[in-house]
Amino acid sequence: MADTFSGGIHPPEEKRYSSDAPIETLPAPEVAFIPLSQHIGAPAQPTVKKGDRVLMGQTIGEPAGFVSAAIHSSVSGKVKDVALHMHPVTGKPEPTVIIENDGLDERAEELTAHGESWQVVEPDEIRKIAANAGIVGMGGATFPTHVKLSPPKGKIIDTVLLNGAECEPYLTADHRLMLEFPDDIVRGHLLIGKTLGAGRLGICIEKNKPDAIEVLQKRVEGTGIKVHPLAVKYPQGAEKQMIVAVTGREVPSGGLPFDCGCYVQNVGTAKALYDAVSKGVPLIERVVTVSGPILKEPANLMVRVGTRYSELIEACGGAIEDIYKIISGGPMMGLAQFSDEVPVTKGTSGVLLFGAEDVEVRPELACINCAKCVDICPAFLMPTRIAQCAEYENVEMAEKFGALDCIECGSCAFICPSDRKLLHYIRRAKALVRAEIARRSQS
Ligand code: SF4
Ligand code: SF4
Repeated sequence: MADTFSGGIHPPEEKRYSSDAPIETLPAPEVAFIPLSQHIGAPAQPTVKKGDRVLMGQTIGEPAGFVSAAIHSSVSGKVKDVALHMHPVTGKPEPTVIIENDGLDERAEELTAHGESWQVVEPDEIRKIAANAGIVGMGGATFPTHVKLSPPKGKIIDTVLLNGAECEPYLTADHRLMLEFPDDIVRGHLLIGKTLGAGRLGICIEKNKPDAIEVLQKRVEGTGIKVHPLAVKYPQGAEKQMIVAVTGREVPSGGLPFDCGCYVQNVGTAKALYDAVSKGVPLIERVVTVSGPILKEPANLMVRVGTRYSELIEACGGAIEDIYKIISGGPMMGLAQFSDEVPVTKGTSGVLLFGAEDVEVRPELACINCAKCVDICPAFLMPTRIAQCAEYENVEMAEKFGALDCIECGSCAFICPSDRKLLHYIRRAKALVRAEIARRSQS
């Protein structure tokens, strides 16, 4: 089997800043800003109000439907308010539980810790624990894990792949997690495999992390799990591209991994699931890479959810020059931030700082029909054509050109010699197509 997919690009890796930095635990914030929406689906409904005392790990937001996720307090203390606060994903103020930390870390014991009996927990119980622990995809997708572990009837999943590719430049959080918590990841993987009844389990890692490949190859001995070293190429960590690289199977257009018998989950999510099942710990902290060319001391930090970016930056010595841009996540698919007062959420993989000279702003020129964007598109689309559809609001053609199959990897915009804002246009095209589909379904 090939170790990669067709298309893709090779942006500078820039992982040297933090790849050798062991995970350090950042002290809990004095005030935690915990958004009620940190996942795909309906925002959670608050279960606490101003003045309430809460414990660390206590549920403070209940799922508002099946496709939603529970939210827990990452500290013990007093609820200062349930109010709007800037959100790193939506870019606007969102309902947030604001908690004054009393520094005691008094724990709620809402979840059962199964300890060494984790291996005998039954699939339905594992799904329930994933839901109660508020586990979501931690690679950035933030899809609720209990939903993903419940495929539609008739969908047989025979292959579970753990995603340790971490193909985004700068990010090293998953790399460090694999080096420092390999057993937890392997156990989480076994739990996912058991829940889905899948016989083929693999851990996928780009070859630029040979130490992680070596560690995991040793730890999977006797488990039936196989480690798949993959070519270093962006977006190797995208679900569909990973599936084709490892299994040769194609996720059909408009489909999901289970349509070809596969399931992909981030390595951090596997660890979170093991922590919930074995230790009874909900998802209230995660590893975040804090990096970028102008950050003084790049690091991988274990951070409580609700800690503001400004505190991470301060813990890393601050910037060596004026901050021009802050990105949440990686530079390819991450989101530029208006403020460093936004909090870390379950999906925050990185906080990156850039100076003015690192961010080249060039004018957008006319398309010269070079077809480079077409050659590298890992989804086999024609980005230039879809972008034109967005510009001229030709929704019908945007749909025909497969706009909805775009995985928003940004490779086309990266490669374009005319600096066309292709990803921006394609996102617009997708929004138009989705709106048209919704309109059709109502008429
Ligand atoms: S069209 Fe979408 S999938 Fe293709 S390269 Fe551009 S962003 Fe990536
Ligand atoms: S890479 Fe840019 S210039 Fe070349 S065809 Fe695509 S949009 Fe046009």
